[in-house]
Amino acid sequence: MTAPRLSVIVPVKDEEAAIAPFVTRVGGVLDGLREPDGTPLSWEILFIDDGSKDATLAAIHAAHRADPRVWALSLSRNFGKEAALSAGLDHALGDAVIPIDVDMQDPPEVIGEMLDRWRAGCEVVYGIRRDRQTDSLPKRMTADLYYRAHNWLSSDKIPEHAGDFRLLDRKVVEVIKLMPERNRFMKGLFAWSGFRQAGVEYDRAERQVGRTKFNYWKLWTLALDGITSASTVPLRIWSYLGAMIALVALVYAAFVVIRTVIYGADVAGYPSMMVAILFLGGVQLLSLGVLGEYIGRILVEVKRRPIYVIRERIEGQD
Ligand code: UDP
Ligand code: MG
Repeated sequence: MTAPRLSVIVPVKDEEAAIAPFVTRVGGVLDGLREPDGTPLSWEILFIDDGSKDATLAAIHAAHRADPRVWALSLSRNFGKEAALSAGLDHALGDAVIPIDVDMQDPPEVIGEMLDRWRAGCEVVYGIRRDRQTDSLPKRMTADLYYRAHNWLSSDKIPEHAGDFRLLDRKVVEVIKLMPERNRFMKGLFAWSGFRQAGVEYDRAERQVGRTKFNYWKLWTLALDGITSASTVPLRIWSYLGAMIALVALVYAAFVVIRTVIYGADVAGYPSMMVAILFLGGVQLLSLGVLGEYIGRILVEVKRRPIYVIRERIEGQD
């Protein structure tokens, strides 16, 4: 069996109702794709079951029986979307790999356009959400803020409003596979890898079935992962802030000494002392917290545990 040209990798967590419609629609789009010489493009759909507790796995089995080009890896528990994507990239066979969500918020019809860009020589073709009307205003605002903070702090810029829906050339996939880190903020890894990148715009739809797995706390955690893995600027901020405060304190100390020499000692100054102590205490705790964030991540990295554990493969004859 020869490797398929195109692999579509789909992380799924508790998406029993979404599997069948996904395979129908995406399979239809993929069947319509052609090689430049007019022959049908070969493809595979690889689901990564990220510890689903509902009938997702049964739905995948059914889809695989109906079409063996659909296959899956089932992880031993919920490892999170980024880990599931890593599993998909590690096992996809295609010359080009497309991660996509199962909820069809990202229209698969865009794949044709991505393919054209890839053939024109781009190694990464990411989808840009034209307008995010389907996301709530707070979600759009926090996303905006995040992209800005990330790109300000990190030298590997991530394209704004590009999600995980993108086409990756085999070369890029091999680079991602070489990255050993446990903290897998995918957009950051893609940005770091470089290559010729291009974007195609699309309108993001409403979620078709089921509901979102990401609440604000999860997104905040993802944001912390993203920034701490891409940048060490947050560690450096405290050195500069510390230097600035020390400088101000020095000037103030000189002022106090001179005043005492001229006017003698007085006991006033309680409020200013309290303010200085509390402010510095706060700054120190905050900087300790930032240190802690990085040290915690170093701990996770040095343990060198696997990023995901596969419980079952759904492929071949079953
Ligand atoms: N997902 C996953 N593991 C998780 C959470 C989500 O594999 O722990 C999958 C989910 O099934 C879906 C994709 O990641 O295919 C995107 O999730 P969702 O649509 O909930 O995110 P949103 O679009 O709201 O950001
Ligand atoms: Mg979604």
